[in-house]
Amino acid sequence: MFQSEIEARKDIVRYSHKVQAHGLVAATDGNLSVRLSADRVLITPSSLRKEDMFLEAPIVIDMNGNPVDSDRRPSTEHKVHLEAYRQRGDIRAVIHAHPPRAIAFTIAEAPLDTCVLPEVVVNLGNVPVAPYATPSTEDLPASMRDLIRESDALMLARHGSVTVGSDLSEAFKKLEKLEHTAEILIYARLLGGAKSFPLEELNRLQGLRDFYGVKSKAVACARNPINEKRPGEETADVDIDFLVEEIVKRVKANL
Ligand SMILES: [Zn+2]
Repeated sequence: MFQSEIEARKDIVRYSHKVQAHGLVAATDGNLSVRLSADRVLITPSSLRKEDMFLEAPIVIDMNGNPVDSDRRPSTEHKVHLEAYRQRGDIRAVIHAHPPRAIAFTIAEAPLDTCVLPEVVVNLGNVPVAPYATPSTEDLPASMRDLIRESDALMLARHGSVTVGSDLSEAFKKLEKLEHTAEILIYARLLGGAKSFPLEELNRLQGLRDFYGVKSKAVACARNPINEKRPGEETADVDIDFLVEEIVKRVKANL
C-alpha cells in the first residue's frame, strides 16, 4: 500500500513542522520522504527550513535520485533515504534528523544504551550507531547499509538519526522516542550512571513484542554492552595503575 501523492505531501508538511518545532533539526538540516511507488519517492528539497515547508515544496525523485518533472534539486542527503528504501521493501517513510542529545552521545563516543526503559526495549531496541562517514558522499549510505536492515532507528556518528516506518507518523514516533531516551540517559549519567535491566526482564520485555504485535525491526537488547554489567555495578573508570600497585604490594606482603 502506497500513500497518494497529495496525502504524502500533507504528511511531509505536517511532520517537517513538527521536527523543527521539537528541536530535532536546526536551520535547514534534515529531510523527510515518503515512498510513492516502487520507483518514486517524494522528498523535501534542499535549503528550506522544515518549519517553512509547504505543500508544493517536496520533490518527486526516482530511485537514482533524479528529480522527475522538476528542475529543483533534492537534498544531497537523499542518498540516505534511497539506501533505506533499497534495503527495506517494507517501509514507506524515512526521517533523517539532527537530534542534539542523541548526536552528543556519538560525539562523546558514549554508549547510547537505549535498553533502559521498558517501552524502548519493546519498540526501539538497542539503537545502533553507524561509523562516521562524510556527509553527501557515497560513504554515508554505505555506513548504514547493514544496520538499516536490522533496525528501524539508527544513528549516523557525528551527524544525525535515521528512523523509518510504514508512514511518517511511525518514523517520527521513533525519532521522538530516541531523542527522549537520550535526554533521560544524560540525566541518569549526571545522577551516577544508567543501570541496566536484569537479563531476565529484558528477555521478558522482548517477548512482549510478539504479544503486542510490534512489527518494527529492532536490535535485541541483550547485545547492548551495558547489559554485560550487573545492575548496581560501578561504571566509573578503573585506575589500572593504582590496582596494579595494590596487587604488587599485597603479593609482596605475602611472600
Ligand atoms: Zn544530515
